Amino acid sequence: MKLNTTHLRYLTPEDWRVLTAVEQGSKNHEIVPTPLIIKLSHLQSGSGAHRSISTLAKANLIARVQNAKYDGYRLTYGGLDYLALHTHFQRKTLHSTGQCIGTGKESDIHIVLTPPPPPPPPSQSITPSSSSSSSSPHPHPQTTAHRSPQQCILKIHRLGRISFRTIKTNRDYLRHRTSASWMHMSRLSALKEHTFMTALHAAGFPVPTPLAWNRHTVVMSLVEGTPLYQVRHLEEHEARRLYAELMDLIVRLAGAGLIHGDFNEFNIMLEERESSTVQSHHPLADVGETVEQDDGRQDQIANITLHPVLIDFPQMLSISHPNASTYFDRDVNCIKHYFSRRFHFTSDDSGPFFKNVERQMRQTKGVGRLDVEVEASGFSKKMAKELANYMDEVGVGQAGSDVDSVSDASEESESSDRRSRDTCDDHHHCETSSGHGHGFVVNRNLEASEVE
Ligand code: ADP
Ligand code: MG
Repeated sequence: MKLNTTHLRYLTPEDWRVLTAVEQGSKNHEIVPTPLIIKLSHLQSGSGAHRSISTLAKANLIARVQNAKYDGYRLTYGGLDYLALHTHFQRKTLHSTGQCIGTGKESDIHIVLTPPPPPPPPSQSITPSSSSSSSSPHPHPQTTAHRSPQQCILKIHRLGRISFRTIKTNRDYLRHRTSASWMHMSRLSALKEHTFMTALHAAGFPVPTPLAWNRHTVVMSLVEGTPLYQVRHLEEHEARRLYAELMDLIVRLAGAGLIHGDFNEFNIMLEERESSTVQSHHPLADVGETVEQDDGRQDQIANITLHPVLIDFPQMLSISHPNASTYFDRDVNCIKHYFSRRFHFTSDDSGPFFKNVERQMRQTKGVGRLDVEVEASGFSKKMAKELANYMDEVGVGQAGSDVDSVSDASEESESSDRRSRDTCDDHHHCETSSGHGHGFVVNRNLEASEVE
């Protein structure tokens, strides 16, 4: 679904009140009766409110529905998008929206600009203290670069959008699906993503910086990198190093009480980092190799290494989950299989194993458990269960074709409890109308194709 912002700037304050009223009314009504919309908007009944209703309906932000008993309106995804964007603009968590760089089964990803940070207080900007400027690793934020809008990511969660295949298997469930449920679930998914990303970021895990959350949307920093699935080739030593780093990440996450639950090549971005070491450089040497120069000259050479940044958290789970061990193994096996298939790399180490993580947890007595922290910070067990149940019911990740991506017998027996949304197989990823083999079409030059 495209994010069409054409009407955003033309809506009047009355239109926004009516749109908000439809949203409020949707909490208790599948179809919000027109008199209720007018009442909730607190506008004088009469032509003003009706004019707004008609404007919003023409812009497809609300849709007219006639049922047997009464006429009314329901909020569309477009309407919910507008409400979220409006709030982001008002709160100055967004400066402008940009291109859609991809659309998946359960989300749309847009490049956006966030406003520049405010200038530093005058006292600091005129006479920066020598101690702070010398101790800071970054320059003082007065340069224009620091004060220009920043490119970021807006992730719009769309949990009601389901592939045809899944609709077939869940027809009965979907017949009873209400717009309130997709809205509520998309919000829950965004809230979960933001809450987990915040906890992970604060704990120093390599994840994007969470910047804002509203309704079904999350604003986060842009990872300047390439998704792992786009990497065609790695040298053996680089594959070994990256594999070790990924396994270490899975173990560290579990040590903090969490399992990603969808740890695959689509959810791992790779950032290039330059470890510029002063080394003697020889024309025949590999990058990073140390070779003595005859004249003793030392060159600064760039040794580029790839480092993972983890994204996509709505399916994360606690290591206390009854099936935690299975999910942990699945994350591990996903990477093992992928590295073996794509890079022909197989580690000599058969681990890591969940039992080792459990042992470590007993020793640390649960200190630093992020699963406990996220619960305390607002994403309750009840919410987690509600979201997980919905994902299972509507078949998020159960497209039926990803079976060989998780070929372990233990996982197949779990099919009703699967929540992997991306799959760790190149050829069996979720479908989009674009017809590409993977569930996410990253395209910086083209508008994403509509899926709905
Ligand atoms: P979905 O839930 O639809 O799988 P993801 O969060 O995995 O959504 O994002 C889908 C794709 O969007 C990723 O594979 C990646 O290419 C891109 N993407 C998502 N977040 C970021 C980000 N913060 N920076 C750069 N690219 C991102
Ligand atoms: Mg993903």
